[in-house]
Amino acid sequence: METVEDKPWFFQVEPLEGESISHFLGRFRRDNYLTPGELGKLAGIGWVVGRWEKFYLNPFPTRQELEALASIVGVEIERLYQMLPSQGVVMQPKPIRLCAVCYAENPYHRIEWQFKERWRCDRHQLHLLTKCTNCKRPFPIPALWVQGECSHCLLPFARMAKRQKSRRA
Ligand SMILES: [Zn+2]
Ligand SMILES: [Zn+2]
Repeated sequence: METVEDKPWFFQVEPLEGESISHFLGRFRRDNYLTPGELGKLAGIGWVVGRWEKFYLNPFPTRQELEALASIVGVEIERLYQMLPSQGVVMQPKPIRLCAVCYAENPYHRIEWQFKERWRCDRHQLHLLTKCTNCKRPFPIPALWVQGECSHCLLPFARMAKRQKSRRA
């Protein structure tokens, strides 16, 4: 067992299946009242946290950076790698995409929604949404998804499912 006496104690946040790094870091920071800059400082990795939360992953996080982050957030480094695109997968940081049906089942942002070639949800055979179905504003970065609703018109993400089009439509 690793001892934790020598470092500050943080509320642990359990990563979810397929959860994106942005969504996970947002949850961890809120539970621990940390800004992206403060988390980066604690981990000794500078200002990269805010960039990663925007899916700006070029340059890609180094193993040392992820090890430092893993020691603060209390998850295995391999678990952090699962929140990032695997090698060879091109990311599209913008627009933030959403399958509202997935979200209604389990409310969090999946990393695969930001893969460049991924314009639909394979589980539901639906096109991913790229903006609010009501006010047409883009979605905020997943680190800021707290209530799971449009930050402008407050329409819940789960309720956008009925406007989500079939990939065959
Ligand atoms: Zn889905
Ligand atoms: Zn809206």
